[in-house]
Amino acid sequence: MEQMILHCAHARYVWNLAVEQHAHWKPGRRNAPGFAEQCRQLTDARRGNEWLGSGNADVQQQALKDFAKAKSARFRLGFGEPTWRKRYRHEGFRVIGTDRVPEYQPDGAPRLNAKGKQVMGRSVVVQKINRRWAQVKVPGCGWVRFRLTRAELPSAKTFRISFRNGQWHVAFAVIPEAIAGPGTGEVVGIDRGVTITAALSDGRKLNCPQLTVKERAQIRKHQRRAARSARGSEAKAAEYTKVARLKAREANRRKDWCEKTSTMLARSFGLIRFEKLNIKSMTRSARGTVDRPGRQVRQKAGLNRAILAQGWGLLRRRTEHKAPGRVEDVPAPYTSLRCSACGWIDKNSRKSQAEFVCTLCGFTCNADENSANNVAAGQGGIPRPRRSAGAGGVTAATGRSSAREPQPSWVGIPLF
Ligand SMILES: [Zn+2]
Repeated sequence: MEQMILHCAHARYVWNLAVEQHAHWKPGRRNAPGFAEQCRQLTDARRGNEWLGSGNADVQQQALKDFAKAKSARFRLGFGEPTWRKRYRHEGFRVIGTDRVPEYQPDGAPRLNAKGKQVMGRSVVVQKINRRWAQVKVPGCGWVRFRLTRAELPSAKTFRISFRNGQWHVAFAVIPEAIAGPGTGEVVGIDRGVTITAALSDGRKLNCPQLTVKERAQIRKHQRRAARSARGSEAKAAEYTKVARLKAREANRRKDWCEKTSTMLARSFGLIRFEKLNIKSMTRSARGTVDRPGRQVRQKAGLNRAILAQGWGLLRRRTEHKAPGRVEDVPAPYTSLRCSACGWIDKNSRKSQAEFVCTLCGFTCNADENSANNVAAGQGGIPRPRRSAGAGGVTAATGRSSAREPQPSWVGIPLF
């Protein structure tokens, strides 16, 4: 355990050095050092710094490799520039496998080098202890036991150990195989909201698990105790750790739900349509629109919305990973106001949060299911009209997921 904390410290130190190097770089100068150059510098640094030199060279080099990957993926993945890692906040390190194993191509043929020799790759050393527990070799620590979350042992080249909220985690880097669709070409539309996390066009309503009332009360209790204890005291830190652990539980549940739901979607539908959400602006508006006084209220509203939004984004992302090429985005405006039977758009059709009755044809449906049907049909509505074109009089339809959802400034124009 002490050795693992030391690994974390070394990895963080090396990562932050790399961040600093790149932060000082300015256009016009020579290129900021790349991975190979940084590795050379690391070797020098290890000679000059006893503390660093006593650590594991592979762990430190992998931190540089992680940085290089983060740097090259900063635009593609939308995380932006890699930034500082903080003590207690971003603790973790990557370990590269030590077993030498022959590499194979996707079709099963052995991978050969230019001389016709079999290419050897690396693999992590894992062992199963029993049905629930396995162990993995960590440099300097020997065997480290971990709880199995899958039936079979992972075959990975690297793994990452992280330390969050007083818990150690190990994650193996495995590329998931795409899940084959049912082959029936069935299309599903998914409407994501706050009251119902995901409404499917086949009528199913899926809800992301939340914390129970009791767990929420526990969070408040620990927050209260933390507030009362002296500044900088051990008790205060302990109470905050408890709060963090409970909040982490919620995040874990949401992640688990997203994994299961996305697998189900990929397995049972040929084409999966999501309504296009601008989650970033929605979370921003949530923070801005609540102008009631009272700091907690505002924070909580903003935070809840932000967390929920992450769940939405994750569900969409994981579905795409599992069903590549079978996920589509449908523009969102008016999906909740448009009649899925005749195409009439009218804010009065939406009687309440749950009820939809078309003012033109009388089609009656659950409001979320109606939206999901529109998404499945690939019908969001038409582009947003200009505000100046005789707006006035039309207010927000109902308490929908976002106050920012564009509202029509005119009423009742059928779209056939
Ligand atoms: Zn209708």
